[in-house]
Amino acid sequence: MGIRLSSISVSKYTFLVAAQLVLNVSLALWLYNEYLHNPFMQTYMSGLWSGIWPEAALTVGIAGGAAASLAAYRRGHLNMILKDAGAIGMTKAAGTSARLSMIDVCPFCDNPLKTLSEGRLQCRNCRRYFKSGMPKVAV
Ligand SMILES: [Zn+2]
Repeated sequence: MGIRLSSISVSKYTFLVAAQLVLNVSLALWLYNEYLHNPFMQTYMSGLWSGIWPEAALTVGIAGGAAASLAAYRRGHLNMILKDAGAIGMTKAAGTSARLSMIDVCPFCDNPLKTLSEGRLQCRNCRRYFKSGMPKVAV
């Protein structure tokens, strides 16, 4: 879903992931540059990789898959894809504005929301934060 309701934890998490990505890419580029210009490292790497490449490829694959599914699970995407994809699509087609103005259940796990302050709601189950489209006085 392109639309994400405002959530403090998600934006923090996204920032952390972006920072780590930049760091990882720059470190990888630096290592690759070193590999290109250092003949000793080239011999070392070729000897090393011929011995361990099947295990290394398997480990990287498993770790990557686990990290991706953990990230998806933490952000609630897995839950949403498995359970609520159909329901959310239907309510969006029926009329988003009517649905958003009186949000009282979590769109991710269908639990009732707890009102924190005027216009701020939190899911009891997954702890996500939501903004209600309407002031609480009008309800
Ligand atoms: Zn929830």
